Amino acid sequence: MLYAKYELSEGYMTDSAENTGDVLSPKNVPLEPIISSEDLAKLRKTNISLENRNYELRETVRQLRLQIAAAESERDQYRRESRKYKTEISQMKTPPLVIGSVEMMLEDGRVIVRSTTGPQFLSSISEGVDKSLVIPGAQCALHPQSFVLIEVLPKKYDAAVSTMEVEEAPDVQYSDIGGLATQKNLLREAIELPLLKPKLFEKTGIEPPKGVLLYGPPGTGKTLLAKAAAHETNAVFIRVVASELVQKYIGEGARLVRELFALAREKAPAIVFIDEIDAIGASRSADAYSAGDHEVSRTLMQLLAELDGFNARGNVKIIAATNRIDVLDKALLRPGRFDRIIEFPLPTKEERETIISIHTKKMHLAKDVSISSLAEATEGFNGAELMAVTVEAGMQAIRHNRSTVRENDFAEALNAVKRGREQPEARELPPGMYL
Ligand code: ATP
Repeated sequence: MLYAKYELSEGYMTDSAENTGDVLSPKNVPLEPIISSEDLAKLRKTNISLENRNYELRETVRQLRLQIAAAESERDQYRRESRKYKTEISQMKTPPLVIGSVEMMLEDGRVIVRSTTGPQFLSSISEGVDKSLVIPGAQCALHPQSFVLIEVLPKKYDAAVSTMEVEEAPDVQYSDIGGLATQKNLLREAIELPLLKPKLFEKTGIEPPKGVLLYGPPGTGKTLLAKAAAHETNAVFIRVVASELVQKYIGEGARLVRELFALAREKAPAIVFIDEIDAIGASRSADAYSAGDHEVSRTLMQLLAELDGFNARGNVKIIAATNRIDVLDKALLRPGRFDRIIEFPLPTKEERETIISIHTKKMHLAKDVSISSLAEATEGFNGAELMAVTVEAGMQAIRHNRSTVRENDFAEALNAVKRGREQPEARELPPGMYL
C-alpha cells in the first residue's frame, strides 16, 4: 500500500510504529491509499517491460561493441597489409644497390670503394651508417645514383667459400696409404708437430714451416696424405682447387682468398689444402700480360700476403699441391712461404704391392691371385690407377656373378686400365665405368 506523506514536524511515530515501520498520521488515522491496486499492477507491468527493454538494449550495445572490436581489428590488418604493399611497391621502384668492398679510408671521412663490377668510387658515408664498421675489406652497398655508402653488409663468407669442401677430421688414416714413408714423415714434421706441439718449436727457438708444397704426378696420394694429416691432428680439412679462386671480376679472387683464410681461422685447428696451385701460382712472361693475368696475379699476391701475415705457430696450416712445379712462380717457393717441398713420385714395386693390398683388403681374393706379380705388372702406374685396377677386377667378378675375385679378373682389369692409359679416347669400357 502507498500512503500520503506527512511532514515530520506535524506527525510522529509511535513506539509500535517505530518497531513495525508503519507510518501513522499524527492522530493515528490510517492513511488513504493514493493509487489503486489496478493502477499499481499496471505500473508494475510497465516496469517489467521497461526492464526487459533495458536488458535488450544493453544486449544490443554489447553486440555492437563486439562488432566494433572486430571491425577495428580488420581495419588494423588492412592497414598492415597496405603498409606491406607500399613497402613492396617502393622496393620495386628503387633500383638495385651497387655492391662493393671498401679499399681505403680518407682523412676527410670519405672512402674509396671498388664495386664488384670493377670501377672504383670515391664515396661519402651516409649519416645512419656505423662508421666503425667501415674498414678496408668490408662489403658495402652503394646508392645506385649518388654512390653514397648507405649500408655495411654483414660479414658473410662468399658463397664460393662456403661451398668449398670442408671436412671435420677426414676419415683417412696413415694406414690407408701405401708407401710414401718419407713423405709421411716430412708432413708429420711440417704439419702435425707445429699443430700438436707448438711449444717444442718455441723452446728450440725456430719457426715451423708456414706452408708445405706437395708435387708429383696426378694420383700419387697428395690429397690423401694431406687428409690423413688433418685426421691425425683432428683438424678441419678445407680443400679448394686454385682455379676456383680465379674469378671473372677484378678483386674478387683476392677477396675469396681473404675469406678462405678467415674461414680457416674461424674453424681452427684447420688445414687449408690448395689443389692445382699452378692455376694461380704459375710465373708469366712479362710480354704476354693480359687483364686476366693481372687478376690471377692479384689473387696470387693476396695468397702471398696471407702467408706472410700468418703466424707459423698458429693453428692453421697450408698445404698446396701441384703436378707442375716447373711452372711455379719463384715468389711462392721462397723461405717463409711454401718452404717445405715434398715430392710424390710414382710408387716403387714394393709400394705398389702395399697400395694393392690396401685396396683389396676387403675383397674376397681367389688363391690364384698374386699381389706381388700384380705389382710387377703395374710398372709406371700411380696410386689412383692401382685402385682403378682393383675396382675393375671386382666389377669383372660381379659381371660373372661371383663374389670371389680371380686372377683372370685382375688380368682383364689390368688390360682395361692399360688401354685407357695408352689411348684415353678409345677406352672400351662398359657404360658407367670410369677408370
Ligand atoms: P691429383 O694431383 O690429381 O689431385 P693426388 O696426388 O692428389 O692427385 P689423390 O687424390 O691423393 O691423388 O689420390 C687419388 C686416389 O688414388 C686416392 O683416393 C686413393 O684411392 C688412390 N691412391 C693414390 N695414392 C695412394 C696410396 N699411396 N695409397 C693408397 N691409395 C692411393
